[in-house]
Amino acid sequence: MPPKPLIAGNWKMNGLTADVREIGTLAQALKDGAGCDVAVFPPLTLAAAAREKAGGLLWIGAQDCHTKESGAHTGDISAAMLADMGLQGVIVGHSERRQDHGERDSDVRLKALAAHRAGLCAIICVGETRAEREAGQAEAVVLGQLAASVPESAVPGNTVIAYEPVWAIGTGLTPTQDDIAAMHGTLRRALTDRFGPAAADMRLLYGGSVKPANAAEILPITDVDGALVGGASLRAEDFLGIIRAYD
Ligand code: PEP
Repeated sequence: MPPKPLIAGNWKMNGLTADVREIGTLAQALKDGAGCDVAVFPPLTLAAAAREKAGGLLWIGAQDCHTKESGAHTGDISAAMLADMGLQGVIVGHSERRQDHGERDSDVRLKALAAHRAGLCAIICVGETRAEREAGQAEAVVLGQLAASVPESAVPGNTVIAYEPVWAIGTGLTPTQDDIAAMHGTLRRALTDRFGPAAADMRLLYGGSVKPANAAEILPITDVDGALVGGASLRAEDFLGIIRAYD
C-alpha cells in the first residue's frame, strides 16, 4: 500500500496576523476528515497562532532551522525551539534557501539531522534547475542532492522528500506527467537501495506550480505521495481545491 498522501503548503515570506484565518478555514473544512494529511508551513511569526487555529486537524511546521541546538547564532532558530513550540515538521533545503543563502547539501543534511534529533519531520527538498534539465543532468543532480542531503537517521516517520524542479517553482510551468513519474521512480529506487523496504513508506512529494486545476493530473502519478504547494497554499479555498483531489 502506498503511504498516506500529504499535501503541504509553504507560505514562504507571506502572511500577516489576519491571514491566520485561512488556517481556521482549513481546519473547519478538515473536521470531517480528508483523504490525505495536510500541513502548512507559515512564516515563523504566525506559527503559534496557526497551531492554535489548526486545532490538531493539520500539522503546522517551519520553513527552516539551524543545524545546532543552541548557541551564538543571532537570528537563527533551532529545531529544538521549533519542537518546543509544538511544531511537527520543518522544510529543509528548499531551492530558495539554497539560492538565497548558499545552502549546500551538507548543510541540508545537518539541518535534517537536527530536525530528527528534535523529533520533527524533515521535509527535504531536491530539484534541478532549467539549465541542468536542458543539459540532460536532471536525474544525476537530483540523485546527488538526495544522497548528500538525506541523513542516515531518515525513516518514513521522520522524513518526507519533496522533488521540486527549480524551474517549475512559481512559474506556472510543470514537467510532463511522464517526467514526474520518471523522477519519482528514480527517487524511490535510490531510497530503496539505501534504506531497503522501508523506502516504500517514505513520502515523495511533487512541488512546482501545483494548483487546483492540475492537481487531478499530478497527484495520481505513481510514486507521487502528495504535493508541496507554494502560491496556491496561501488561500484556503485554493489549497482545499488541491486537498480535495484525494476525496
Ligand atoms: C514551493 O516553493 O515549494 C512551490 C512549490 O511553489 P509554487 O507552488 O508556488 O510553485
